[in-house]
Amino acid sequence: MSASLTALRAHGLVKRFKTGRTHIEVLKRVDFDAGHGEVTMVMGPSGSGKSTLVASLSGLLKPDEGQVTGMGQEIWKLRTGKLDRFRLDHCGFIFQGFNLFSALTALQQVEIILKYQGVPRRERRERAANALMEVGLETKMGQRPSELSGGEKQRVAIARALAKTPQLLFADEPTSALDGENGQVVIKLLQRAAKQHGAAVICVTHDVRLEAYADRVIHLEDGRITEDRRAGVAPEPKSQAKPELVGA
Ligand code: ADP
Ligand code: MG
Repeated sequence: MSASLTALRAHGLVKRFKTGRTHIEVLKRVDFDAGHGEVTMVMGPSGSGKSTLVASLSGLLKPDEGQVTGMGQEIWKLRTGKLDRFRLDHCGFIFQGFNLFSALTALQQVEIILKYQGVPRRERRERAANALMEVGLETKMGQRPSELSGGEKQRVAIARALAKTPQLLFADEPTSALDGENGQVVIKLLQRAAKQHGAAVICVTHDVRLEAYADRVIHLEDGRITEDRRAGVAPEPKSQAKPELVGA
């Protein structure tokens, strides 16, 4: 696999939480980087700090110490408005709980994000429809979350994240509410975002089945990185001769 350009780099991240009188250190000087075009999987037991790490990397939760540089900007030095803009322009988010608006159709869920971003109305509609097609939901565009299955809801969330073709795509346990088959669909879509759009995909999971889809697997334990290794790309059984071309 060719070396990829760094999209995101963090150095010396420390995050502490105060509960009552005690401080717990959840991130203990974590160094991290993620490359364009790669799926970087962050794995580790529950409570090891995975969500805290992703929140610190994505501008959602300020670390107590350390730096995060994304797309060439040191994000925790940005003023609030600029940080919001950074997230809007460069980051896509996919969470376990889908985070969809119950009153909006699939198409509207995607359109509204583009609206926040300032995309003109007609272009919004077209890009939203394209993103939904990309995740295989062309026949469900008019349906609201209550009329969609869990797997479909997660695909709407992915379409929403992909519509703005973010260069940093963060997913926190995106498959944990899904069965194996739907989980596989979701991870393949994330993989495609990396391979086709060049996004740096940072995916937190404790689902070991997803490891096979990672370019790189980082293990986090008790706030420290204990392992960082490159892996083969998705084992499509018949295409093992050229695994690096899977999904390209
Ligand atoms: P993971 O995603 O790996 O399960 P988290 O990053 O969510 O782990 O949490 C790591 C640790 O930090 C846990 O012990 C958790 O209880 C604690 N923690 C997370 N968020 C907070 C918070 N806002 N206040 C206090 N403790 C927190
Ligand atoms: Mg978590």
